[in-house]
Amino acid sequence: MNEDLTTTTCPETTRTTTRRKNLKKKWGGKEWKIAREKFIAERGGKCEWCEGTERLTIHHPMRNSYGDLAYMNFYLSGCILLCSRCHAALHAGKVLCEREHADGENHYRSHDAEMCSHCYLQEHPEIKELAEIARAEKRKRQREIRKAQAAKVKAWKEKNGGKKK
Ligand SMILES: [Zn+2]
Ligand SMILES: [Zn+2]
Ligand SMILES: [Zn+2]
Repeated sequence: MNEDLTTTTCPETTRTTTRRKNLKKKWGGKEWKIAREKFIAERGGKCEWCEGTERLTIHHPMRNSYGDLAYMNFYLSGCILLCSRCHAALHAGKVLCEREHADGENHYRSHDAEMCSHCYLQEHPEIKELAEIARAEKRKRQREIRKAQAAKVKAWKEKNGGKKK
């Protein structure tokens, strides 16, 4: 079933497809499952960034080298244990914001930024106020539009309600 694929796609695409397929096979395999569970247990079953214990995933920096012997050795490969939120943040080029957050949540900052947007807003309340004002204005406008619409409907009903069909 792969013949069509190799003749109709460029070699690079074929390579990528094959690699993905092989990776999927590897990740679905028993060997991977065992190595994964071992790694999670050895790392204390905690996200290395936020110490969360839910939805743990392994970030594998050597996605392209599944065939290498080092690939299955998570320590040699430089894998890190992350919860799914931190993992997604990592792939988005972010890191965990080290500051304390009043809401008790984890926030992420751009790796080259000093703080996350949550902290930034905390330090610059005027931005929050401006946003608050903009939101209030929007709500007011929407209320006015709704009122105008209701008035139009009412006027139409009054005009048409009088005439009997
Ligand atoms: Zn985490
Ligand atoms: Zn990853
Ligand atoms: Zn922050």
